Amino acid sequence: MLVPTSHGLYCPQGDFFIDPRRSVARAVITHGHSDHAYRGMDAYLCTQETVPILRHRLGAHGHYHGVRYGETVVMNGVRVSFHPAGHVIGSAQVRLEYAGEVWVVSGDYKRQADPFAVSFEPVRCSTFITETTFGLPIYRWPSPSVVAAEINNWWRENAAAGRTSIIQAYSLGKAQRIMGMVDASIGPMMATSAVHAMNTVLADAGHALPPWKNLAAVDRNEPLTGSLVITTGIDAALLRRCKDAATASASGWMAIRGFRRRGNHDRGFVVSDHTDWPDLMRTIRETGAERILATHGSTSAVVRTLQEQGLQAAELEDVGMERTE
Ligand SMILES: [Zn+2]
Repeated sequence: MLVPTSHGLYCPQGDFFIDPRRSVARAVITHGHSDHAYRGMDAYLCTQETVPILRHRLGAHGHYHGVRYGETVVMNGVRVSFHPAGHVIGSAQVRLEYAGEVWVVSGDYKRQADPFAVSFEPVRCSTFITETTFGLPIYRWPSPSVVAAEINNWWRENAAAGRTSIIQAYSLGKAQRIMGMVDASIGPMMATSAVHAMNTVLADAGHALPPWKNLAAVDRNEPLTGSLVITTGIDAALLRRCKDAATASASGWMAIRGFRRRGNHDRGFVVSDHTDWPDLMRTIRETGAERILATHGSTSAVVRTLQEQGLQAAELEDVGMERTE
């Protein structure tokens, strides 16, 4: 039903690509991250929640068609539908059905609770194409409430010491998730430009984000002591503006001790929008798939483990793209 090509995953019967990275006529998009949604497609099919994100990132005048979760679009006889992936706002697994066969492409996904992304729903299928970004048994995420308490304590301590807290997070997904996780009574939340722009797009689309301020619009003489600044990158200008700041990164990679030590940040919080190992194994079981194709990250470890369990598993040709978190 799907074949890897230099442009991305292609469905010959339906004549469309899933998350193509080169210009094609018809693109089915799992979610709005830049390594899945590229510019230059004649037409995009995605969830209706993803449409404003694509407009913002890829240009206002593209041909975007948004559908509801669970709604079916038929393309040359192939029934295509989108199902919640729990990764970021609008993210979806793509289910394809043709001639009695069902394939599901997971896109990026997670099983942990997220204040804004609709929770992942397992979809029964014969072939499941799963992401394996964190596909090693060492990756086990702490519960979001534990991490939220860690971030709140860090922010509170910084505020008490007269410092600004700066947390680095990806602009789509991670930034909003952190805003929704933390205790907004500790202090004001500020967003740097990319985060502010994405927040604005999402809030305008009706997502109820907690209040935040656009850092660029705050008077330069106003002290930021006690604030939580959410940013995609920490540079010298930002550190100068914050004067006395504590910095942190929020990522699945923070589960690895060495990453915490090596990074330039004071703290690392384990917050990932990808599935960890136990949830990856659970999800594969819940799809009931006879065949699993692994893509991105630790594909070989996952394939080996599934084969040992007697499942039919293989690596999907690696598309070799950089991963966003
Ligand atoms: Zn993603």
